[in-house]
Order: sequence, then C-alpha cells, then structure tokens
Amino acid sequence: MLDTAPNRPDLPPEIARRRTFAIISHPDAGKTTLTEKFLLFGGAIQMAGQVRAKGEARRTRSDFMQMEKDRGISVSASAMSFDFKDFRFNLVDTPGHSDFSEDTYRTLTAVDAAVMVIDGAKGVESQTQKLFEVCRLRDLPILTFCNKMDRESREVFDIIDEIQENLAIDVTPASWPIGMGRDFVGCYDMLNDRLELMDRADRNRVAESIEIKGLSDPKLDEHLPAAAVARLREEVEMARELLPPLDAQAVLEGHMTPIWFGSAINSFGVKELMSGIATYGPEPQPQSAEPRQIAPEEEKVTGFVFKVQANMDPKHRDRVAFLRMASGHFKRGMKLTHVRSKKAMTVSSPVLFLASDRELAEEAWAGDIIGIPNHGQLRIGDTLTEGEALRVTGIPSFAPELLQTARAGDPMKAKHLEKALMQFAEEGAAKVFKPAFGSGFIVGVVGALQFEVLASRIELEYGLPVRFEPSQFTSARWALGSQAAIDAFIKANQTHIAHDNDGDVVYLTRLQWDIDRVERDYPDIRLTSTKEMM
Ligand code: GDP
Repeated sequence: MLDTAPNRPDLPPEIARRRTFAIISHPDAGKTTLTEKFLLFGGAIQMAGQVRAKGEARRTRSDFMQMEKDRGISVSASAMSFDFKDFRFNLVDTPGHSDFSEDTYRTLTAVDAAVMVIDGAKGVESQTQKLFEVCRLRDLPILTFCNKMDRESREVFDIIDEIQENLAIDVTPASWPIGMGRDFVGCYDMLNDRLELMDRADRNRVAESIEIKGLSDPKLDEHLPAAAVARLREEVEMARELLPPLDAQAVLEGHMTPIWFGSAINSFGVKELMSGIATYGPEPQPQSAEPRQIAPEEEKVTGFVFKVQANMDPKHRDRVAFLRMASGHFKRGMKLTHVRSKKAMTVSSPVLFLASDRELAEEAWAGDIIGIPNHGQLRIGDTLTEGEALRVTGIPSFAPELLQTARAGDPMKAKHLEKALMQFAEEGAAKVFKPAFGSGFIVGVVGALQFEVLASRIELEYGLPVRFEPSQFTSARWALGSQAAIDAFIKANQTHIAHDNDGDVVYLTRLQWDIDRVERDYPDIRLTSTKEMM
C-alpha cells in the first residue's frame, strides 16, 4: 500500500498518488531553474538545461512571440507531468510577469497546492506577495523554498520573520541551512534528522545524505567544522523553541508553510522539497461546483477548462483548452457533455504534457491536466461531465484596469479585427467591449504590456496591423440586476454602456464619481469588478 494520501485511505491509488501544484515567485527568484531540477529528478530529462533549450524550441512552435524572447518573459503557461518516487506530479506553470496576473489567477484555480520560491537575499518580493494573496483566497497549501543559499543571503530568522509578518502565515523550518554564501555546505533536515551536504563540484549531483541521531549525534562533528556544528545546534534549538512544529493539518488548511532552504542551481534541497510536496502536497481535492461539490474519487469523469491557448501552432489555427480533471478516470475517445452548450463532445486527441513534449493522453485521472485541441467550442470556465449538469465555480474574470480603443490599420479590415479580438477575448487574453453607442471596440487589460502582446499577436496571427488609442473611459464594471432594472439602466446611460464578448452588460466610465452615483441612484443595480466565468 502506497503511503500517498495518509488522510484519504479511501482514494483510488491512482488518484491518491497525484500532486498537482504551481510555483509562485517573483521574477528571477529561480522558478525556471527549480522546474528544470524537478524534471531532472523526475527522470523526465537527462540533464538540466535541456528544459530551457527544449522550451525554446517549443516556444518557437507555440509561443511565436518575438516579445517573449526579447523581454525574456513567459507569456503562456503550460503544464508538465513527471514521476517522483511513487508519485505523479503535475506542475502547472504560471506566467511570472505581473501583467499576466489574470491568467495566473486562473491557473491557481487548477492546482491543489503552490510552491513559493523566494530568493534568500531578497525575501518576500512584490509579485510573491500578490500571488500569495491569491493562494490565500483559496486557502491553498503553500510550501516554501528559500533559494540561492549558496550566495550571501539574509539571516534565517529574518527571512522566516518576514514571511510570517508580511504574509501572516505560520512558518516552520523543514530544513535548516548550515552556513551561507561561500560557506554554505548544506542543510540539517529537521523532519528526518539527516545531514544533507551539497556537492559544489557537480551541480547536477544529488546531495550526500547522512543519517543523524539528533543534534547531539557526534557524527555531526565528523562532517562539519566545530564552529558550524556549534552554530547549527544553537540555531536549531532556538528555532524549535521559537517556531511552531510542523502541523500537517495547518499546512493543508493554508495556515502554516514549511520552509526548505537550498540552491536550485546546485540541485540542492530540491529532493527534500519534492518529498515535501509528496507528503504535504496534498492529493487532489474536492472541487466546488453548482449545484454540488465534485469529489475526486467519483467514478464519473468531470473536468473544467482553466486556460485556453489559441494558435499554438500558427499553421493550424488550433486552440488548446487546458482541462483540470476534477474526478474519475478519463480514457481517450470518451464522449463527454459540454455542459454550457449541452452538446456531446468526443475527446479523441487529448494531449498530456510530459516534460517538454506533447503526447497523446490515453488516460487521465482526477488531478491531471490535459489539453484538448478544439476550434473554439471550449472556453475558460467550461465544465465537461459524463452527462450531469454540473458547473464548476470560482474561476474569476477581473475588470480590466486599462482600457484602449482598438482600430484596424486598414479600415476595410474592421470586421477581421473584430473576429481576432473576439478570439483573444475567449482565450482570456483581454476583455473586449462593444459600446452600445458609436463604433469600434474598447479593449481592456490588466497590465499595459498586454496591449503590446495583443498588437503583435494580431499582426502575426491574423496579418492585421492594429492601433491602440487612448479611450475616453478608464474603468469598467459589470452591471447586474433584474432584466427590467438592467433595461431601464441601459436606457438612461446609453453613452456609458457596452457589452462584453459574452454579451453581458458593462458600465464604462472615467470617474469614480459616476460609479458612486450609479450605486446611489440605482439601488437595484449592482456594479462589480469581477465576474465568474461560465
Ligand atoms: P525565474 O525568473 O524565477 O524563472 O528565475 P531563473 O530560474 O531564471 O533564475 C534567475 C537567475 O538566478 C538565473 O541567472 C539563475 O541561474 C540564477 N539562480 C537560480 N538558482 C540559483 C541558485 O540556487 N544560486 C544562484 N547563485 N543562482 C541561482
């Protein structure tokens, strides 16, 4: 019997062994390097470094974005599956740049845990903090990896304090670093009483692991200089006195994060972190849905789309919908119901993202991520089931913070531009609003860089030059209310009204004053800055 889900001995072993997670971090903290090492230890590739190389090859195929190369940012998130010991890990990649945060938020709805990577010299940075807040909204379990301990870093207690204070979460050390910077030699594994020594000569080598019978074990003195041993004993004693011990339930509920120290580039601390993901991961969790929750062990297959990527292959205008399996055992060729349209859909060529290659997915279990090529039927937030009318909830859409008017470089091509914009809207790359009054489209994004991405994609993928110009509006809010209330509201506010790509009513303005006025004058109308995708 695998010890894969100690809390859930009732789960089918194939589900119990799955761990689906994302990595959150500030750019440059070491997410890419850590991912490479995961794949290396997951046996997926021979040598670290290949991911980046293969990633680039794949990107020329899928990401096509000159910008991405120019700016060194990863625009598109993908999923990777690999095995570690008895476990199947599904790592969902999140785009790191803050301008793509909406995509990231949605990605985090598809995972059961997050690994937070911080740079030991920099601590909690802005993007880490933002992403952490999103994880907190969902009470996601968070495991922390403090990276770059081979460089001068902050004092360990300082780092831990900062996390506790800035993120309001209990921190418990799973390992304790010995020395830092040039004197960093390894870690004391506080969970298993082992000494892990880093190999500085070979970056891809796994650390030497030495069983230790507690901190008083004289073996410590054989392997470490006297001063280092004395300091380690003192610090660990202090840590055990001052910091809470690891409480698996608190981790599961997102109130406590275990922290591992290491150096991703030296492959150090990565295996311990992976074992931590296996142990505290956790297994696939129930999924909130209407009218009832979905349990992973249900026999019938359900899944939901959390991301759509269009034009992965520019030659074939295909789209891939990324589906998180919420329950059951999926087999290739299965006929599933697309709940929104009530239509049947045969899933004949699902894709699994094994390490750096796409492969046909013959089967998938709750927790897995599969890609379904389609021609636009599948949208973010869609649920697929074996017939039951379930709708997965909690996948947000945010009001854009920046609005611009899109104009076709060639006025004869306005219709084409409309089509291109609609496609990007469905993919979730932007919001597109059609004003009730006047012509043209208003495009809304969360970060300014997205306009550049859009313009260059529209040009590349559709051959359409496009201009983005300042819009007279700066804010958008969805308007909710009874049909009668909405009708009256539209009539009286025509110049402020637009419809989004789903046909929902949006109120556009440039003044907070207007929003306050609507709230005061129209008690039956609710203006919201998020809507749930459906
Ligand atoms: P990302 O932006 O979070 O994906 O970060 P990368 O993985 O690309 O790493 C950013 C930089 O930090 C790169 O130059 C890496 O080589 C370097 N780096 C990553 N891990 C370590 C580490 O453990 N020690 C040191 N010294 N540098 C590291």
